[in-house]
Amino acid sequence: MNGCDRSGLMTVEEALEKLLAAAQPLSDTETVSLMQALGRVLAADQQSPVDVPPADNSAMDGFALRFADCHAGEETTLPISQRIPAGAVPEPLQPGSAARIFTGAEVPPGADTVVMQEQCRWDDAQVTLAANIKPGTNIRPIGQDIHRGATVLVRGHRLKPQDLGLLASVGIAEVPVYRRLKVALLCTGDELVEPGEPLPPGHIYNSNRFTLMGQLQALGFDYVDLGRVADTPEATEQVLRRAAAEADCIISSGGVSVGDEDHVKGCVEKLGSLDLWRMAIKPGKPLAFGQVQGTPFIGLPGNPASVFVTFAIAARPYLLKSQGASDYLPTPIPVIAGFSRPHAAKRQEYLRARLVQDTQGNVRAQLAGSQSSGVLSSVSQGNGFVVHRLGESIDEGNAVPYLSFSDLLF
Ligand code: AMP
Ligand code: MG
Repeated sequence: MNGCDRSGLMTVEEALEKLLAAAQPLSDTETVSLMQALGRVLAADQQSPVDVPPADNSAMDGFALRFADCHAGEETTLPISQRIPAGAVPEPLQPGSAARIFTGAEVPPGADTVVMQEQCRWDDAQVTLAANIKPGTNIRPIGQDIHRGATVLVRGHRLKPQDLGLLASVGIAEVPVYRRLKVALLCTGDELVEPGEPLPPGHIYNSNRFTLMGQLQALGFDYVDLGRVADTPEATEQVLRRAAAEADCIISSGGVSVGDEDHVKGCVEKLGSLDLWRMAIKPGKPLAFGQVQGTPFIGLPGNPASVFVTFAIAARPYLLKSQGASDYLPTPIPVIAGFSRPHAAKRQEYLRARLVQDTQGNVRAQLAGSQSSGVLSSVSQGNGFVVHRLGESIDEGNAVPYLSFSDLLF
């Protein structure tokens, strides 16, 4: 397959394929308690040691009985032979009687039906049931949710809050997970100053450091923040050596073009190897991938919006696969475009968009502001990307693929 279009740019799909082919999932594991397991990646399939629920239990407050004891088409009165609150162990049901039962309580052996209390009149001694009782109702059967021995989650799964609940529901208190992938983060540029410092002439604040740190944290990675790096070969080489020694992967921003002040390419090549890709992505385009003394290296562009996009689209799947996760590619969902755009001739565009409900209740994707690669406010105001596919136009009212930021930040 040739993923390059006529302008010699590499398509996003081909760049992703190359990145993912190079990603080596780490193999070190550790055991963590469920309390610490949110966002971690399971290192082994998890089987349930129990049935959930562990026994037939009542879905209602009411009366448990044998359906055969009811009179067809008329009211039935039965003596109450026992009371079963949740947590109690019931006696077998005496034939010809009913048991008072509460939601979640185990159904007594011999009973096959629970009648909800709204269909009953009762006193301490007996209960009268309505005429239209249906057999087998209001019982949650043993194993309705999970059967003993069933695989509840598989290796490579990233644990969400509901997964922690699921594991707890089968009695699992700790799980084997891959150790956290450690990512070294560096931002190149003589023009950068840190927020909180005064802004001297000719400088800008270092925003990429915080965008990337946030993305790494949101995805559950460990990281080493190496701060900003001056645009000199010496400073760049020094920080790259440290990054290679301390981390599983290095991510940098800026300095990957081929200008006089772009030293990343030369230094990475000196210490390892580097491919500079011109990706057919907007915002974005330059993306560097290689290794520094054997540690994988991803060089993102410098522009703040390009950083967010290239991290989310290219670096995220690579890092998640390296972390051992199996669900590393986001699923685009079709949404209706509330705007039109001409044919995307050269680059696939990731448009910062918002899903907005109109007065008729229809949801449409609207552009979230300027799409310039330097503009971060529209990334902040957006809640996802509309993918403007290479070679296609967008017509208002048509379906377009949408990638939610909440998916890309998990
Ligand atoms: P570069 O690829 O180094 O030429 O950077 C491209 C553009 O992104 C320039 O306008 C830089 O000033 C800007 N830029 C680079 N790094 C950062 C950063 N960490 N925070 C904000 N803007 C940056
Ligand atoms: Mg620069």
